[in-house]
Amino acid sequence: MNKYFAQLLPYLERNQAYQTALALLSWDTETLAPVAASEYTAKSVGVLSEEAYHILVCEEVEDLLKKLSSPKELESLSVSEQAIVRLLQKTYHKLSCIPAKEYREFSELCATAQTVYCRAKQNSKFEDYADTLEKLIEYTKRFAAYRAKKGESVYNLLLDEYEEGFTTEVLDSFFEKLRTALVPLIKKVVAKNDAIDKSYNSGDFPADIQSGFCRFLSGYLGFDFNRGVIAESEHPFTTSLHNHDVRITNHFYEDNLESALFSAIHETGHALYEMGVDDALTGTPAGSAMSMGMHESQSRFYENMIGRSRDFWTPLFPKLKETYPDELSSVSLDDFIAGINKAEPGLIRIEADELTYPLHILIRYELEKEIFSGECKVSELPKRWNEKYNDYLGVTPENDAEGILQDIHWAGASFGYFPSYAIGSAIAAQLYAYMAQQIPLADYLREGNLVPIREFLRDHIHKYGAVYPTNELLKKVTGEEFNPDYYIRYLTDKYTTLYHL
Ligand code: ZN
Repeated sequence: MNKYFAQLLPYLERNQAYQTALALLSWDTETLAPVAASEYTAKSVGVLSEEAYHILVCEEVEDLLKKLSSPKELESLSVSEQAIVRLLQKTYHKLSCIPAKEYREFSELCATAQTVYCRAKQNSKFEDYADTLEKLIEYTKRFAAYRAKKGESVYNLLLDEYEEGFTTEVLDSFFEKLRTALVPLIKKVVAKNDAIDKSYNSGDFPADIQSGFCRFLSGYLGFDFNRGVIAESEHPFTTSLHNHDVRITNHFYEDNLESALFSAIHETGHALYEMGVDDALTGTPAGSAMSMGMHESQSRFYENMIGRSRDFWTPLFPKLKETYPDELSSVSLDDFIAGINKAEPGLIRIEADELTYPLHILIRYELEKEIFSGECKVSELPKRWNEKYNDYLGVTPENDAEGILQDIHWAGASFGYFPSYAIGSAIAAQLYAYMAQQIPLADYLREGNLVPIREFLRDHIHKYGAVYPTNELLKKVTGEEFNPDYYIRYLTDKYTTLYHL
C-alpha cells in the first residue's frame, strides 16, 4: 500500500467513529428520543461535529492529500483508493473554507431546526419556522460563498453536493423535457380517472398488521435483518452507519394501505444499496452510495418499476388479501394494479403517483433557484409555493402543513437535494430498460424470486459504493451516460397502456 495513503487511514477511522456517533444521534432524534431532549442533543451534536471537523481539517491531512495528488503517487493507488482520495479532497476543500466555530454553530442549528420545523408543521404555522429557515439559508449561502470560484453560482455548488455535474443548465433542460412530455399526458390520464375505483385504500388497516406485512415485504426484497433494523418515524427514511448497520423507518396511517407499503419498498431499495457495498470500502469515504441521485434510482426502481408492476404482485397479492380479508375481499388483482398506479394531481409529494411526482420536484427546484438568486424572500415562500402548485398541478394547499411545511429537507439545510429525486427516477428507468434486456426480469417477479434482481444491482451498482461518479458508473453499466429519454418513454408507454390512451 502507498505509504501516504496508509498514513491517511487513522484519520479516516477516527472521522468514521465521529460520523457514526452523529448518525446514531440523528437516528435517535427521529425515532425514539423525547421532544425535550432536542436542545441538549443539539449541543452534543455541535461539539462532536467540531471534533470531527478538526480530525480532517488539519495540517497532516492537508499535507498527505497534497502528496497523494501528484501523478506519481496517484498512479500507485488502486481505483478504490483513488476514489477515496478524490472524495476526501472534496470534503476537505468544503470544510476547510469554513471557520471551525461557524461549523459548530451551524451543526447545532441544524439539530435544533428539525424540532422547530416539526412543531411548526404540527401547528401548521410557517411563521414559527421562518426565522430558523432564514438562518439556515444564510449559513448555506455564506458557506457556499467561501468556496465559490469567481462567478460561480451558489445554487450550482449546492446541487453539486448531491449530484456532481448536474448544474442548473443540465437540470433546466431535463425538467423542460419532463414538463413538455408530462403535462399533456397527465391531462389525458386524469380525464379517464373516473373509471378507477380505489376506495379500498382508505379502509381500516391496524398499524401493527401493516408493520408486520411491511417487514415481510422488506425481507422478500432481500433486506438482511442481520445488518439492518426497521423502526417508526414521522417521515420514512434510511440511514447507514456502514454496510453492516443500515436502518430504515416507516410511518403507518391506519386509514391508508398504500402509504406504508410503498414506503417499505422504497426504503428497502435504499437499504439494499447500502448493504450491498463491498466490505473493502467499509468506513471509507467511498463506503456509501455514490450520490443522492443514484440512491434514489435504487429506491425508486424498487418502488415503481418493480413494486407497482403486475408481475410483482402476482405472487404477493393473495397474501395481502389474506392479511386484510375484510377490507380487500372484493378487490381483484386488476383493481389493485389500477389503484396503485392511478395518477391524480395532489398536494403531497410523498403520496404522489409516479406520473405527477416529477412536477412536485420541479416546483421545489424552481423555488430553490428563486431562494438562492434572492428572487424570493423567506416570508414570500408559502405564497409562491401555493401559486406553483396551482400552476403545475391545479391544486391549492389549504394550510402550511400540506403546503410549504410538508418536507423536512430544508430544516436539515439540504438545499439542492430535491432534484435528485427526479434524477433518480430517470436513472431508474434507464437501468430498468437495460436490465430487462439482460435478465428475465418479469419471469423472476412472477416466480417471486427477487434474489437475481438484487444480485444484478449489487454486481453492477451497489458493490462500488461511491467509487465511480454517476455518469461514469451509468456508462460502465449501460454503455450510456444519463439519458432522460428512457424515463419519458417509460412513463408514456406505461400510462398509455394502463389507461388505454
Ligand atoms: Zn428515497
